[in-house]
Amino acid sequence: MSQQPLTIALSKGRILDDTLPLFEEAGIVPAEDIKKSRKLIFDTNHDHIKLVVIRATDVPTYVEYGAADMGVAGKDVLMEASASGQTNSLYEPLDLNIATCRLMTAALKGAKQPEGRIKVASKFVSLTKRYFAEQGRQADIIKLYGGMELAPIMGLADLIVDIVDTGNTLKANGLEERDLIAPISSRLVVGKAAMKMKHQQIQPIIEKLSAAVDRRR
Ligand code: AMP
Repeated sequence: MSQQPLTIALSKGRILDDTLPLFEEAGIVPAEDIKKSRKLIFDTNHDHIKLVVIRATDVPTYVEYGAADMGVAGKDVLMEASASGQTNSLYEPLDLNIATCRLMTAALKGAKQPEGRIKVASKFVSLTKRYFAEQGRQADIIKLYGGMELAPIMGLADLIVDIVDTGNTLKANGLEERDLIAPISSRLVVGKAAMKMKHQQIQPIIEKLSAAVDRRR
C-alpha cells in the first residue's frame, strides 16, 4: 500500500548537526549529504518521506500552516513563536534531548540592575516581554538580530536574554549569567492537520525517534 507523502522540516545549523545522527538511528536517512548540498529539499530512504532544511525560526511557521507535517525546532524558537502568536496549534510530542542549552538573562559582570524600568535586549522579544511581565518587572524590550552581548557593553541595554551553552561567549565579553528562564532542547513538533490526517504515518516516526532518544540515555 502506498503511503501519503510526509514532509519533515529540519532547523539548519547547530541543531541539524545533532538531528541527522538521531534520525539515522531512527531509520530515516537522507538520500544525499545534506551538509554538502545547497538544496533545501531532500528525498530519504523512505519513498514517502521528504526533509526540508530551513532556518530554525521558520520551522514553526511551516508546520503551523501545514506546509510541512512535522518539524524539529529548539524550545527557544517554539516559545518565541507561541508568545508572539505566530503559532497556536502545534503539538510537541517528543523532547529529542539534542542541542541542549539554557535560555538566560545576563548582564555585565557585577553590574547592579536599575530599580525601576530596565532595558532588555534580545532576539526573542515576545518571550522576553512575557517573562518580565510574569516577574512583575517593568521592561523595555529592544529587538536585536545578533551579537546580544554587545548591548550592555555599549549601554544599549541593562540585561540581555540569550541562549547560553558553555558560557564562553558571555565570559569573553565580560558578561555573567543571571536568571535561568528555561532549559532548552530541540523538540519534535507536529501540525494539527497532519496529526489528524496522517496519524498512521506520524505515529511510527514518533515511536522510532522516541526509542532512539531512550537508547541514548
Ligand atoms: P556558548 O559560548 O557556548 O555559551 O554559546 C553561546 C552562543 O551559541 C549563543 O549566543 C547562541 O546563539 C549559540 N548557541 C549555543 N547553543 C545553542 C543551541 N543549542 N541552539 C541555538 N544556539 C545556540
